[in-house]
Amino acid sequence: MKTSHIEHIGIAVKNLDESILYYENVLGLKCYAVEEVKDQKVKTAFFQLGQTKIELLESTDPEGPIGKFIEKRGEGIHHIAFAVEDIEGCLQEVEGKGIRLIDQKPRRGAEGLDIAFLHPKSTYGVLTEFCEDKN
Ligand code: ZN
Repeated sequence: MKTSHIEHIGIAVKNLDESILYYENVLGLKCYAVEEVKDQKVKTAFFQLGQTKIELLESTDPEGPIGKFIEKRGEGIHHIAFAVEDIEGCLQEVEGKGIRLIDQKPRRGAEGLDIAFLHPKSTYGVLTEFCEDKN
């Protein structure tokens, strides 16, 4: 499988607007996009750092994945996303190596990327995302 870089790090926050201020005013980054992903019941904010982005995630529904995550574990790092080539092939390959998939097939994520998640129970505790930019 071809993994080129960390596409983004997803961070669960309770309040997107407040946390954006921290990344901008304290860390000196610039938020370049805010986008709602209805499918995942989140509002996202993006910062670019070299090839890698920070993706802040605020839940729009307490029953959504980020709402549940924050309730259980509090704010913090939620997932790491790797940029890959041929995401379908990657999913097949890792499944063949015994890794449990959350998504059998890629779906549409923020920024129009194809994304799919691997289950943290098979990835040593890290919710792992594959991303492919087919645009
Ligand atoms: Zn992500």
